[in-house]
Amino acid sequence: MKKKDFLRTIVERDLKEGKYDEVVTRFPPEPNGFPHIGHAKAITINFGIARDFGGRCHLRMDDTNPVTEEEKYARAIEDAVRWLGYEWDGPVRHTSDYFQRLFDYAVELIKMGKAYVDSLSEEEIREYRGTVTEPGRRSRYAERSVEENLDLFERMRRGEFKDGEHVLRAKIDMSSPNMQLRDPLLYRIRHAHHMRTGDAWCIYPMYDFAHCLSDYIEGITHSFCTLEFENNRALYDWVLDTLRLGPPRPYQYEFARLNMNYTVMSKRKLKELVDSGKVSGWDDPRMPTIAGYRRRGYTPESIVNFCNSIGISKANSVVDVAQLEHAIRDDLNMKVPRVMCVLDPLKVVIENYEGSEELEASYYPHDVPKEGSRKLPFSQEIYIEREDFSENPPKGYYRLTPDQPVRLRHAYIIRCKEVIKDESGRITEIRAEYYPDSKSGADTSGIKVKSAIHWVDAATAHEVEVRLYDRLFRVENPQGIEDLNPDSLKIVKGAYVERAVIEEKPDERFQFERQGYFYPDPVDSSDEHPVFNKIVSLKDSWSKKQQPSKPAPKAAESKAPKSKQEANEGEAAPLNEEEQVRYERYTRELGIGKAAANTLARDAILREFFKQALSAQNSPVTLANLVVNEVARELKQKSLEALAFTPESIAALAKMIDQETVSSKIAKEIFELMAESGESPVKIVEERGWVQISDPAHILPVIEEVIAANPDNVAKYKAGNQKLFGFFVGQVLKATGGKANPKVVNALVAEKLSDL
Ligand code: ATP
Ligand code: MG
Repeated sequence: MKKKDFLRTIVERDLKEGKYDEVVTRFPPEPNGFPHIGHAKAITINFGIARDFGGRCHLRMDDTNPVTEEEKYARAIEDAVRWLGYEWDGPVRHTSDYFQRLFDYAVELIKMGKAYVDSLSEEEIREYRGTVTEPGRRSRYAERSVEENLDLFERMRRGEFKDGEHVLRAKIDMSSPNMQLRDPLLYRIRHAHHMRTGDAWCIYPMYDFAHCLSDYIEGITHSFCTLEFENNRALYDWVLDTLRLGPPRPYQYEFARLNMNYTVMSKRKLKELVDSGKVSGWDDPRMPTIAGYRRRGYTPESIVNFCNSIGISKANSVVDVAQLEHAIRDDLNMKVPRVMCVLDPLKVVIENYEGSEELEASYYPHDVPKEGSRKLPFSQEIYIEREDFSENPPKGYYRLTPDQPVRLRHAYIIRCKEVIKDESGRITEIRAEYYPDSKSGADTSGIKVKSAIHWVDAATAHEVEVRLYDRLFRVENPQGIEDLNPDSLKIVKGAYVERAVIEEKPDERFQFERQGYFYPDPVDSSDEHPVFNKIVSLKDSWSKKQQPSKPAPKAAESKAPKSKQEANEGEAAPLNEEEQVRYERYTRELGIGKAAANTLARDAILREFFKQALSAQNSPVTLANLVVNEVARELKQKSLEALAFTPESIAALAKMIDQETVSSKIAKEIFELMAESGESPVKIVEERGWVQISDPAHILPVIEEVIAANPDNVAKYKAGNQKLFGFFVGQVLKATGGKANPKVVNALVAEKLSDL
């Protein structure tokens, strides 16, 4: 059995000792923002403990600051508690329900000589308080008589003074080592409209005064709060003891608040994200708010399980957000149906398949299978994921290639017969063949495949929008907007989901096989325009994912770097272990140059671009250079989405370079045009007649012309000026508009000149 946490141990002891008849807790949020995952922890603690011990839990809006509080936040808090599966006892309560009683208690303290109206300025109050090492001084107004204090406090309430003119303070001990006890403020003047009490009040109680008394008034037994209130506990007790309230009376206990990496957990910072428009609202599916998780597709169970799994402790720590992601994966894994969705469709025409059929496919092909299946339509045209086909596969590629068959999940094995491309070299269609005797579950074909891929039937699939989310922040310990992950949302339009998802709706949430878990967006999705949110991926890809490495601070005395390569090395931090492994692979296995390998090893975005290009064209060296120089330069000015070219078109350019169809000089110009217009390199070359000339029959006449036009230089060369060799080569290249193959020109010029 799981060991009881320290809060439950306290509750159990108190009940056993008969201190209380029943446990009564409360969750006391301030309605100044949407509740976040940290609040979920406080909710599971307060409601969970009440539930476990057969007690009750109140929901109390701690509404003592009229300036920041709003009804919409109060609604969001109620929604969150209910959605997590809890019900509060009685009506929703408010600290403002007790404003009159709190005022009366304050009057009582004044009468006891335990509170006084102070008229120091805010600044003086701070100054008089002293420091942790020095005692404070008491205000000269502390000597006011009870009558004067009562009069002033009443007049404060009536609105005779401006904000900040007076405050009510407890008279405790200005030299207490606990700063909270140095005559703390109990009331302040705030001329502001309150969302519930309107203009009835212009003085508002401070948290430390209102909280303990509200707990007392409601008959709370255990008041759980986070560790930062530890020093306030003495004040909590002082107020109740001085007013001789109880027993039975409540006591405060502190637990460590939830902190999570890659997450900001303060309503103030979350509000900044909302107000700045960096997210679509408090319920943006990337937000760590309960509303955000809910909209994204998290289940309440997964969040409660997460809160329970992290435990309750008295020491602050940071929880890995991967644990929350694990909780939702864990919850959905066994529960939800598995279906197929193609995000980046590539059409496959199965030439030897005629007609159509419906394949029986289980929704729950889990380790422990469950009942439930759908009919999966199959016909001649299907879509597969573009990345599940590779014309020039890298090593270890197990999916469809011109030479490698693959299984279509729940269906047949196919093999590629022909690859059809458009003029830009982009693959538009695969012509394929299927093996009739390879049907899933009844395969007698004897054909070996290395993997099964997902697919959808083109005739019956539904087009959908898919929103892929990644972590909102790109650093472990984000401070705010400046640390946002620019790639936290990717919208995919024109994805295809199999028929049953839309027409049968066997569940709300799905596993799209090989992609992750998905949920229809509750705000934007409709039958006419289905929109799916990615809840979480199937595996934790982030722990291995490389963060874009920040350049290490430059040493102040470092000299201006001489070469480009030195510049790279001078600025960058040493490679970490993972980067080093990649670097080795790039240089040794792929033969990429050091500088390019270094950049690719560090930069996740360039690396991904490179990989995609490489799967279309197996030219690692040329591609690496294009990506690290040309593509990287574009990416300094534009986002990945804004680039006019694709990895495939860069691959097509690399192919022309490697086959010497174009010179590398011309390749640069082609690239500029691609970057500007998005035109395919093949088209650019064809339209402009830029195909590289390597045929001596075309180059020789040009060389002869150049020699004939420069008799002086020929004479000088013959007289021994070898430097002029470069001049002739240059002239020839220029005369061909840069189209002549420099290697061929070099050889031919050398030959011609020596013949003279
Ligand atoms: P924030 O600092 O995010 O604005 P808060 O503490 O000001 O939060 P409240 O509305 O006052 O927000 O909090 C309501 C309850 O939730 C309090 O009991 C508080 O201790 C608890 N709580 C707030 N944040 C966390 C957290 N990160 N982990 C656990 N409990 C929390
Ligand atoms: Mg607060």
